[in-house]
Amino acid sequence: MSVALQIDSLQQKLSGTGCRLVAVTKTRPVEMLLEAWHAGCKAFGENRVQEMAEKYGELPKNIEWHLIGHLQTNKVKYIAPFVSLIHSVESLKLLQEIDKHALKNNRIISCLLQIYIAQEETKFGLSTEEAEALLASPEVAGLAGIRIAGLMGMATFTGNREQIRAEFRSLKQFFEKLKKGPLPANAEMRELSMGMSGDFDIAVEEGSTMIRVGSSIFGSR
Ligand SMILES: *Cc1c(COP(=O)(O)O)cnc(C)c1O
Repeated sequence: MSVALQIDSLQQKLSGTGCRLVAVTKTRPVEMLLEAWHAGCKAFGENRVQEMAEKYGELPKNIEWHLIGHLQTNKVKYIAPFVSLIHSVESLKLLQEIDKHALKNNRIISCLLQIYIAQEETKFGLSTEEAEALLASPEVAGLAGIRIAGLMGMATFTGNREQIRAEFRSLKQFFEKLKKGPLPANAEMRELSMGMSGDFDIAVEEGSTMIRVGSSIFGSR
């Protein structure tokens, strides 16, 4: 199926669910991103700063750029002028760096706290306790250049769909708990980024507001 048809079919599946598509374009040439853009998808997820900055320079300006991969503090400056949402925040140090560069650019940058939900050693993220501690800390409350918009999580890479569902469900429960507050003035629980090509259907059923889908649209990497 073509990129355009895949995007249409995904948008149809999402219609009425309250969940949005972020097309994960890492490793794809700009021609493919343009194809997706012409098909009506204007939100792209990249996991590497340099690649995202280069593509930003080459493509139309009405694109939302989502950073979905691990972000090093020394690279924040390259994306601060244009990034729409950083899905992968997992430390106070990183929030402070994003804040600094947001203010330099006269922006407020939206961020998600990445929460560790998988039964794997390799996934990045905060524990729920660490996330709660961040949200309660006066240092975070004092950052005027960031907005914490919600949470992101990745399920275990497994064929066990019940396990995946349980992991997404636990993240949604944590999201709802945080939503009840108290939260600092620069945080809200609005976005829950969960679901990729192999598990987005489960994620949508469990309350995702944003799925990050690459290979289902563009083919295997
Ligand atoms: C690559 C990636 C995706 C997309 O994965 P697909 O299986 O290609 O849909 C989603 N989220 C993150 C954080 C990724 O790194």
